[in-house]
Amino acid sequence: MDRLILTGATRIYGAGAEPMREHALVLEEGRIKAVVPIGRHPTDAAVLDLEGLTLLPGLINCHVHLCLGGEADPARVLLEDPPALRAIKAVLRAKQTVEAGVTTVRDLGGVDGIALAVRDAIRARLIPGPRVLAAAKGICMTGGHGWRFGREADGPDDVRKAVREQLKVGADVIKLFATGGVMTPGVEPGSSQLTPEEIRAAIEEARKAGRRTAAHAQATDGIAACVDAGIGSIEHGIFLTEPIATKMVTGGIALVATLIAPERIVNHGVKAGIPEFAVRKSEAVHARHVESFQMAMRHGVPIAAGTDAGTPFNPHGSIVPELALMVKAGMSPLEALRSATSVAARVLGLHEETGRIAPGLAADLIAVGGDPGERVEALDDVRLVIANGRIAVNRLKGGA
Ligand SMILES: [Zn+2]
Repeated sequence: MDRLILTGATRIYGAGAEPMREHALVLEEGRIKAVVPIGRHPTDAAVLDLEGLTLLPGLINCHVHLCLGGEADPARVLLEDPPALRAIKAVLRAKQTVEAGVTTVRDLGGVDGIALAVRDAIRARLIPGPRVLAAAKGICMTGGHGWRFGREADGPDDVRKAVREQLKVGADVIKLFATGGVMTPGVEPGSSQLTPEEIRAAIEEARKAGRRTAAHAQATDGIAACVDAGIGSIEHGIFLTEPIATKMVTGGIALVATLIAPERIVNHGVKAGIPEFAVRKSEAVHARHVESFQMAMRHGVPIAAGTDAGTPFNPHGSIVPELALMVKAGMSPLEALRSATSVAARVLGLHEETGRIAPGLAADLIAVGGDPGERVEALDDVRLVIANGRIAVNRLKGGA
């Protein structure tokens, strides 16, 4: 893309506190060059007319697994597929993701280095997809949650080594499994797993390399240990407490709740083919999960949108189902939009790159019908997606 003008949008979100009107965007070499009053844009460029649409930053999903496909038992499918097929499926999921208006994802754990390869192929413009930050393998204790796909490590020294291994293969972020969870048989969400010493060692190693960290943390003690050690984000955070929420605010530690993940498991149930252990555990924690989300909101914990895409009946693509649940739990639609744009970008350390509409940032932009600031469901009416300066979807009048 040389130069492109986006004009005529009814409203623009992400360019300031209030929706902006009567402005055009000038894009150049894949970036936002300028935001100018309509009519004041250069005339020597291609123009896309967004009449009647809402323009906003591309969406960010802070928690996906490109290796998992959202089948009733995704782990079984993954383990049965040969590695080449796993990679092909991940490529298709990346395409599906960007076509839904999600222009950045953080992949929190997979196998065979697939998410890293998908990331690099997208970056090299070989395949369509969102910007990917990838964790390579998640780090768990021996037999702990995530062991079927993770790197099992025991003791601070081994955990350090496990972190170094992920850095060596090119991980952008380090993922820890601090507690039990729903999708692994034989472990409980309410039990702590990695020790505080192990968690501290992992975070220290990541920090030395300038990488951020994220922890699957459901049990109270495990969440507390991660927060005390200075984790970047708490994933799920099911058994959060008021004192921990206060510490998260002080430390600027985000919650990525992934409300949709247990919700889908509970709604579909065993009859749909989801393993019984996952259904039983999800049912047990479901209500407490929503309470913790609301607790975090009340305290002002930064909340970033993430879906855990790939878990049962939780496919890659739209993050609207998660945003709708966040709204149902009490968030305003505008806050939900921020959690999937500016707040998410900050949590990922990408706030100078994406998540807002401002000169100098990457051209990660979407246009949708309706007003998602009133109704997040409007985000599913995707008319235009520009991901890192490339048009991924164009359903505008006269568009290809
Ligand atoms: Zn996950």
